Order: sequence, then C-alpha cells, then structure tokens
Amino acid sequence: MSKESVVLGGRVITVGSGGDDDRWQGVLVSGDRIVRLITRAEAQDLGPDVDIVDLGDQTLMPGFVDVHAHAEVVCRTAYKTVDCRAPECGTIPDVLDSLSSYQSTLAPGEWLVGQANLFFDRKLKEGRLPTRAELDTISTNRPIILRAGGHISVLNSKALEMAGIGRNFETPAHSVTGRPEVIRDSSGEPTGVIKEMDSLLPLPNPDAEELREAIEQGLQNYFTTYGVTTIGEISETIVGLECMNDLAEMGRLPASIRTYLWSPGTLESLDKVKNWKDHIRLTAPERDIRIQGLKLFSDGGFSAKSAAVNCCYVGHPGSSGSIAFDQYFLRRAFLMTQEAGLQLAVHANGDRAQDWLCKMVIKLGGAKAGRTRMRIEHAGNFLPNATSADLWSQAGIIPVPQPVFIYTFGEYFPDYLGEYGLRGRFPFRTLLDRGWRLSGSSDVWIGSEREATNPFFSIWCCMKRQAYSGNFIDPDEAITFDEALRMHTIDAAATMGEEDEKGSLTPGKIADIIAIDGDPRRMPVDDIRSLRPGFVMARGRVMLSPPDM
Ligand SMILES: [Zn+2]
Repeated sequence: MSKESVVLGGRVITVGSGGDDDRWQGVLVSGDRIVRLITRAEAQDLGPDVDIVDLGDQTLMPGFVDVHAHAEVVCRTAYKTVDCRAPECGTIPDVLDSLSSYQSTLAPGEWLVGQANLFFDRKLKEGRLPTRAELDTISTNRPIILRAGGHISVLNSKALEMAGIGRNFETPAHSVTGRPEVIRDSSGEPTGVIKEMDSLLPLPNPDAEELREAIEQGLQNYFTTYGVTTIGEISETIVGLECMNDLAEMGRLPASIRTYLWSPGTLESLDKVKNWKDHIRLTAPERDIRIQGLKLFSDGGFSAKSAAVNCCYVGHPGSSGSIAFDQYFLRRAFLMTQEAGLQLAVHANGDRAQDWLCKMVIKLGGAKAGRTRMRIEHAGNFLPNATSADLWSQAGIIPVPQPVFIYTFGEYFPDYLGEYGLRGRFPFRTLLDRGWRLSGSSDVWIGSEREATNPFFSIWCCMKRQAYSGNFIDPDEAITFDEALRMHTIDAAATMGEEDEKGSLTPGKIADIIAIDGDPRRMPVDDIRSLRPGFVMARGRVMLSPPDM
C-alpha cells in the first residue's frame, strides 16, 4: 500500500460538487490519489505512519489545468534568447541596448534572438517596431531577429541574407502558422519585417540534452511556480515530446502533459498523426504524458491581420484574412481523429473562420460528445455576432477562449477592425449565463506577457477586465472568482475529457493540490493577480514547498 500523507491548511476550496467546503481543512493522499477530505482535528488522530504537511492558515485548492499552452516553445524561447518585452523595454533604444549587451555571450556569427511581446509596436513609446537599419547598428556581421510575438518579426540585413530573403525572394504560400509575407519598400527591397515566417528561418536549436534541461526548468518556472499541474500542450517537435517523456520516466516531469499534435508543424501529414506511434517514442504512463489530439491552424492572428474575420481590416479594404485549408482537408482531419480516438482542436481566431468550421462540422454530422469532442481554439475571445455561438451549439464544439488576451490585446480589436472590433469582446458573462462551460488557458507562446502562465492572473483578467493600458473592456462581462476558478480547474479538465480525474479536490481523483496564503474569496481582486502558491503537489508528489519544510 502506498504511504499516506495529509496536506493541512486553514480551509479548502474543493471546486467539487459537494458544496460543503467549510467543513474541511485538509486532504488525505495515498500515492498519487486523493483519499478523502479531512478536518484538522481528524488529522491529529491519524497514526504516526501518516506524514503531515501542515501549511498553517493557507487555502488548499486543486492544481490548475492550462488547456492550451505552447510549453515547449516557451522553454525553447527562453533558451539563449534576449528578453526584450515591454514594459521593461519601453523604447527602441532600450531594445537595441538589451540586444547589444547580450552579444558578448554569443560566438561570432551566432544568431542574436530577441523576444518581445505581442503588439510590441503598440507597447513601445515610438509606436512602431525597430527597423532593419536600427538592428544593423548592432551588427551587420551577425544575424539578428527581433520576434514581436510569434507572427511578426524584424530581421537585420545579415539575417535576411542568411534566410535568403532578397529582392527576388519568392514568398512561400504557407507556413505552419499562417500565410507568410515579406514586407517590401517601394523599390521592392525587403524592409526586414516578415510575417508568419519564423518557422522557415534557420534559427539555432538546442541539442537533445540542452533541450531536456530547458524544458524541465521552463516547466517549473512558467507553470509549477503558478500552480499549474496539467498542461494541454500544443506540440512543437518530436524531440521535445520525447524529452518530456524522458523527464516523466525519470520522475522529473513537473506537470502532466496532454499533447495535441500540431500538423503540419510537428508531423507533416494527417496520416502520420494517425500513426503517431510509428514516429514518436512515448513510454511513460499516460497519467504523466499522453497524445490527446490533433491541432490545426485554420487562420492566422489579429496582430498580423491574418485572422479570418467577417469584416475588413482597417486601412486594407478587401482584406479580411484567409482560411488556410479547404473543406476536403477538414473532412479528412475530422474523420481521421474520430477514428483514431484523438481530439481535434482547430485554431480559429477570426469569427469567419469559426463560423466556417462550425458549418463544415454540422455538415459532417456534428462533433461527438465525450473525451474527443472537437475544440475551437480562441472561440469566445471575439464574438461580434451572437449567432456564431448558435453555430457552436449546432456543431457541438467546445469554445476555448484565453482570458489573458483581455489584457494583452482586448483593447486593440477596434484598431484592426474598426467599429466591428468593439462588439463582443470576451463575453464571458453572457456565455456563462447562456449555459456555456468555458475554460481558461494561457496560449503562452513566443511573446506572451510575463504573467501569461499564472492562472491567478488569468482569473484576475476574468474578474477585472483591465487592458494593458489600464482601460477597462466591457466591465459588465465580468465574472466572479468562483466562476473564474472553475474555468481554470474543473471546466478546463472537462475540456480535455478529464473531469473525472482532475480539476477538483474529490476523493479518488489525482492528487494535484496547491496552497496559497489567505482566502482568495475574501481578498480585493487586485491581490488575486499576484498570488503565488507556496505549495504545489502534482500527482501526489511535492513539486514546490515552503522554504522551511
Ligand atoms: Zn496557441
């Protein structure tokens, strides 16, 4: 029999259906499972064989589930990369300084990679991105790339040369993130700004051992620190997945990983995804890591004006983004995933892409309920027409919004879409009132804000609805702490078909438990934003504990 232990605090928020949270102060755990909830008095009567982790007055809660993250990308991004994010870098000279000072750590000719946050042009004092010429002032011998988020980047002259992007460069029709574009000046010369092309560049790569280190540290720093115990991971590379598998085998995987195989990014064809076992070595228990589904991109992002919307982009009459594949491809993907027991998750930022997907799925008989029910990533972030949500119900899809985007770019919709962009931004109150079960997720990627992977920050976004600038976005769409907590625990677990295993402190479920100082139900909303768990248990193992324990 596994050894039992008790995690004791001042109170428990179970997020379970019992409704009797007030009775308990602790959780009894055996191996990787929750046995039952207990009172402090009961805990004193347990025999000496039971370990007691006494966290005083802290509040115990279930570990968070982040249903949509690009964990490997973030771990890689942090590796040998200069952090150029605003507000710490507030001006173009700040950016150039940060890049310059990192040069001494690199070998001659090695790529200098700067990572900025999304909508970086809006966040810099100058209101624009640095130019190719400005990057050239750092070096003309070394390739330099400044990634303003993951859709748009600026290259210096050497980087353009190394990537083969010159006057006669023929832009490829597709990349894994969307339709590539090279911005040119009036004479046809590339300006250095490129869109949706990062995946086509010869950027440096860590070897397998460096990557395993980068992933272990990155998962701890970006997820465990904030109490995330399960990650819905959009896969990046096979070697990255295998690194996670190896960490799991060594008992060192910080969070359990549910992977959506990104095609064509990770596996180039649907056939390969179907037969993923022939291509990916996964040996660790499913509890730790498993292949959950298939991830496709049907459109791009708002920042690159490539999300497929039902209106025109401001200043670009006739341009409304495009849908990256056709109905025949979607049909194949839909049927293949059903047959293979995989969950289809399709990225669709724009309302036109979402409507199109739903109509196609309705034609195919609708998404099947259960663990593999189809998801539409980013549905719920921008809902200009209420009828789109009717299509969601008819298609039977799960909308997967990202509350942190309220802060990151909620305010910029009208800049890209005019009047149309003022309609239906993150209408969580409306959707919950209509009976939708929503999840929260970070979609952390290249260029995310520092707080992006902190679910308490995401909960704060749901409650406060404040944008980066400080302005509020449709405050009547705010939801309560308990509603927001469900989005990041039990309802997130449900999005991945795991509500019977995770997302609440319920007997028999996996022991994913976190503890925080104070009672979040009684704190001012702004204090919730900066909460950090002092204790994290994942699958019955203590991943983070107070320094004096
Ligand atoms: Zn994503």
